[in-house]
Amino acid sequence: MKYGEVSTCPACGESGALEGEQVDNIRVEGPGWVRVGEEDYEFHGRGFGDVLADHFSCDNCQLVLDTYELLEAAGMDLAFEVEDEDFVTDEGEQEYGSD
Ligand SMILES: [Zn+2]
Repeated sequence: MKYGEVSTCPACGESGALEGEQVDNIRVEGPGWVRVGEEDYEFHGRGFGDVLADHFSCDNCQLVLDTYELLEAAGMDLAFEVEDEDFVTDEGEQEYGSD
């Protein structure tokens, strides 16, 4: 899965797309499993992770930075935070099983 965020182009100053695939430091913030009934539990939480950027592209000036080294050289953000339900699901499955 690819993640992305809008980031300012270092060449023209317009908005470009910063993307990455590798996610580090996944964490779930929230109360976690909450008892909502006699035997019912619901998972309440939001999943966050830090995506390591490896690609930037700008539609305005056609700039493409396609390696970490190029992003670093251009002074781009090298990681950005994303929120994804999948992070929560993964966490929940570990505790709740497949049922
Ligand atoms: Zn640009």
